[in-house]
Amino acid sequence: MNAMTEIKPDSNALVLRDVVKTYVMGTEEVHALCGVSLDIAKNEFVAIMGPSGSGKSTLMNVIGCLDVPTSGTYSLEGQMVADMSESQLAEIRNRMIGFVFQTFNLIPRANVFHNVELPLIYGGMPRAERRVRTEYAIERVGLADRMHHKPNELSGGQRQRVAIARALVFEPSLILADEPTGNLDSRTGDEIMTMLDELHAAGQTIVLVTHEDYIAAHALRTIRLKDGLIESDERVRKPLAKAPPVIESLQEQERDAV
Ligand code: ADP
Ligand code: MG
Repeated sequence: MNAMTEIKPDSNALVLRDVVKTYVMGTEEVHALCGVSLDIAKNEFVAIMGPSGSGKSTLMNVIGCLDVPTSGTYSLEGQMVADMSESQLAEIRNRMIGFVFQTFNLIPRANVFHNVELPLIYGGMPRAERRVRTEYAIERVGLADRMHHKPNELSGGQRQRVAIARALVFEPSLILADEPTGNLDSRTGDEIMTMLDELHAAGQTIVLVTHEDYIAAHALRTIRLKDGLIESDERVRKPLAKAPPVIESLQEQERDAV
């Protein structure tokens, strides 16, 4: 049995086949994606890397249903994206995909609770259920004590955690993160990556774009793009950490201190 037959058809979160994206700029054509085929299984943690202009954002926009391919096919959880209407696409973006951006994209005047609740309001969920889900998502990112704070009352790392809670609130099939640590110092960036590691360990599928090798090192698969094509696609085999090393070493220190 080879690796291909081990993967059951329904274990794929997303499947792209020969995806081409061409932008027309006046009389010129820009070939942003030139035939990308890619399967991402459920619970994969994938980093997309590549030089500026290689097509990373375009690929993320296609995967996130923000843009449609010029040709080729894309299916998300077995549903063909090309067949969907604009309102179906909007619903998929809201319910099935959690977006995390470099710039957090929070609503400044809304507190943490309302920022996280927003996708559920768009989704038409009743108030009582919204409250339970919103509080749970905020607890998952460790901000239960900041529920009523506004974004400008939080640190950069806390703001990104709010954005992660908002991305999680519908329990999406996929988290898409475009340079999620790009606006954070490296220590805060590490905290955010540890959080993504924990979500991955809890079963979440994650695709992230990054320029940094040490950020990509959190993923178990790295796809490099070049000139709109996949240049390499490598998996690393490493066991999922049960506890982050820092916690283990703290526990050791406590034991030693006794
Ligand atoms: P990356 O995110 O890797 O820097 P992009 O996906 O943003 O790359 O861009 C890939 C190519 O497509 C670039 O040459 C870029 O200029 C072009 N491109 C991206 N978006 C558009 C657009 N909306 N209109 C025209 N050209 C675009
Ligand atoms: Mg980009």
